[in-house]
Amino acid sequence: MQARDAQDTRRECPNCGHRVRARAGNPPRFCRVCGHRLATVAQSPAIPQLQVGYAGSPAAETDGKAVASLLLGITGLFIPPLGLLAIVFGLAARATIAARPQERTGKGLAMAGIMLGAIETVLMLVVCGGVRIAI
Ligand SMILES: [Zn+2]
Repeated sequence: MQARDAQDTRRECPNCGHRVRARAGNPPRFCRVCGHRLATVAQSPAIPQLQVGYAGSPAAETDGKAVASLLLGITGLFIPPLGLLAIVFGLAARATIAARPQERTGKGLAMAGIMLGAIETVLMLVVCGGVRIAI
């Protein structure tokens, strides 16, 4: 291996693997071979690799309960009791994804749904408790 002093001005395309050279010290933003958007300077090289691995498993589809959880979590911002449903759906989705990680994705969606649901439930309890004390 040669000295890697030029590493900062060179980007490897996560899409086609082409090594794109910098021009006048500016890191390239798009691959000149396939036009794929390249990682910015702030991002670590591990991020594009993760995306490649993610795209490399086409059999996996997003779990419906995970999507439902996130939607319920968002809707729960306006209708707080739905936050409880968001938690239920989120936990069910995570159980499904954990059991079949090759076929199901959406762990992040489920987690977001659970978090939103938890926040809404806590807020709802606080508000209800506050009203009760006020009365
Ligand atoms: Zn490319």
